[in-house]
Amino acid sequence: MPAIASILDAAARCEPLSPRAALQLLATTDPAARRDIWDAAAECKRALVGDTATYVVNLNLNFTNVCALHCAFCAFRREADARDAYAHGIEAIVAKALRYRAQHAITEVTIQGGLNPALPVGYYFDLLRELKSACPDVHLHAYSPQEIDFIQQRSGWSLGRVFDGLRAAGQGTLCGTAAEILVEPTRRKICPEKISTARWLEIVRAAHRAGTRSTATMMFGHIESPADRVTHLQRLRALQRETGGFTEFIPLPFIAAKSPLGRAVGRREIDDDEALLTLAVARLFFGRDLPHLQLGWVKRGLATAQRSLQCGADDIGGTLLEEEISNRAGSRFGSYVPAERLAAAIREVGLAPIQRTTTYGRVASDWSSATTQVSLLPPPCEELTTSEPRRSATRVNPPGNTKMSSP
Ligand code: SF4
Repeated sequence: MPAIASILDAAARCEPLSPRAALQLLATTDPAARRDIWDAAAECKRALVGDTATYVVNLNLNFTNVCALHCAFCAFRREADARDAYAHGIEAIVAKALRYRAQHAITEVTIQGGLNPALPVGYYFDLLRELKSACPDVHLHAYSPQEIDFIQQRSGWSLGRVFDGLRAAGQGTLCGTAAEILVEPTRRKICPEKISTARWLEIVRAAHRAGTRSTATMMFGHIESPADRVTHLQRLRALQRETGGFTEFIPLPFIAAKSPLGRAVGRREIDDDEALLTLAVARLFFGRDLPHLQLGWVKRGLATAQRSLQCGADDIGGTLLEEEISNRAGSRFGSYVPAERLAAAIREVGLAPIQRTTTYGRVASDWSSATTQVSLLPPPCEELTTSEPRRSATRVNPPGNTKMSSP
């Protein structure tokens, strides 16, 4: 087995880490050796993006918490008849986005929800269309691969047609969530009703091929093994090498407090050092293949997010106005951090803050001014445009498994 020092020597220069070496690094418990791994990850990050770190001014919109599935880690979902179940109308959502845009100059709206059988498939398209029509300068980071599966099953369309239709309606990028852990035996235990590993990869590949880029995520620190984490990273890296469609990787430490899975695993959460070790190994594993990594503040707090910037991350996350999913699971860190605070947190660790767009372009002026976007790095695949004429808003289809005839 090679010595850790020789692994890190190459990895700090962003040379690709082998799965075996990644596993060896993940097994490290010695504090000094862990510090060496964090330092190597920070060096690799510096080589790729310099002494800067980014943040995004975004609003989180969960349009419904009613979900037909029962993932073991989820504290967000509700049955349709629950007292606090909701499904928001499009008009109210648009009004909220307009309000936040005026008050906070958001550049991104992240849109996700449960799989609510009462929502017609047309809702997914109409929501984007109406939001884009009201806020044309705001990027819509919308829907997970699980929701895409839901849309495809109910529309009867091919994946390519679904993505073309969503893009025409205003989708900018796809959320890389619902990945959880892309290793089938473990995945079946924590979310048996969810799409399979192969299906997740199929949907994300189809998105990238259709020109829709996405983030990539991994939920870790529950029942998965270190080998599962490495396999997950391998699958993402292979897809990134094939399509170049991932904009960033976001490792998501599992929040146990209020989730059913947390009760099953004894409400134990991994500590910050282990979370940061996984982040650092991911940085070294992806190397030049994926230059942007984020351990957002919402899972472990702003202080840990600051530490992550010294362990391989180059992004501190978003303002996340109205974040709900992590908070329902028991995150103690609130649902909003002002852009000014995120920028200050970056400065406090000696880095230059940069407000970014969803696809890691640069927002030239700060959050309180109008935004002009220029590219920070060449996009790994062709940047999307929304230049085709926008369709006028259409009415939401009646509830049920409505088939759609056209985008
Ligand atoms: S994680 Fe998503 S799909 Fe799973 S139960 Fe929660 S809302 Fe539903």
